Amino acid sequence: MNTRITDNYEVGNVKIFPNNETVLNNLNIDNILPDLNSPNNPISRNTVNLEPICLSIHTWLLKTKKHTIIIDPGVGNSKNRPFTPNFHHLNTPFLEGLRRTGFKPEDVDYVLMTHLHVDHVGWNTTLSDGEWIPTFPNAEYIFSKKEYDYFNDPVNHNDRNKTSVLVQSDSIQPIIDAGLASMINVDGYEVVDGLRFVSTPGHSIDHASITLSSQGENALFTGDLFHTSVQIQYPELNSIYDAFDVQARSSRHWGIKYAIENHSIVFSSHFPESSKGKIIEDKNGLGWKYI
Ligand SMILES: [Zn+2]
Repeated sequence: MNTRITDNYEVGNVKIFPNNETVLNNLNIDNILPDLNSPNNPISRNTVNLEPICLSIHTWLLKTKKHTIIIDPGVGNSKNRPFTPNFHHLNTPFLEGLRRTGFKPEDVDYVLMTHLHVDHVGWNTTLSDGEWIPTFPNAEYIFSKKEYDYFNDPVNHNDRNKTSVLVQSDSIQPIIDAGLASMINVDGYEVVDGLRFVSTPGHSIDHASITLSSQGENALFTGDLFHTSVQIQYPELNSIYDAFDVQARSSRHWGIKYAIENHSIVFSSHFPESSKGKIIEDKNGLGWKYI
């Protein structure tokens, strides 16, 4: 495992740094995109590259003129994740990566979560003397109230959500107890500096994407709208991780349209390599280009 912060990128006057927490290699595309095997699948298997694929866990750190912001703080170290072996008791140099760019955890003003899944909230907390304490002690942690209510309602404590339920106790509740959490309605809420939460439900009950506009330039942080660029080429393909099929497809189409119309740089959570790029549309259809 290798944590890197390289290749910062500027959108308007906001600097954006990647922090690649971990990489999952050689995943079987049939497992990630089960729609490929559905009899109703509108996409011919012959048109999709069926090579094994690689997913990453990317967190994004934004530096504006006034603020330091983290989007989707990864899996975290030492978390007990018996149902998701790839994330069980990780020990990655994520914070060292942060420090190498000149930032300390104390510098972070906001932590934004697109949703409350295991790989988007983990660094909210770190283990200290057997207690989970906020990693970023001066930050306001912002996430959807509806998403929080859903995972904390015993009605939804089913097999699919069993890891998400675990996550609440070690990565969400401690920041609430510390008085650092702000639960919002995801309806275009502007955090600060042109950063907004936009509703893109489907992957989870109240999944958000985050848009950034700065000096006429735009970015889209997609959370888990897409797990692989194959879903940009074929937006109808849901991933195994999408909880609500119809909404997930609809939100994916929205993300593609938004990115094209606004000439947005797209910052994904799980694509390999730089994990950032542009969605392109030409006579061959939709596609993805890394930058
Ligand atoms: Zn994810």
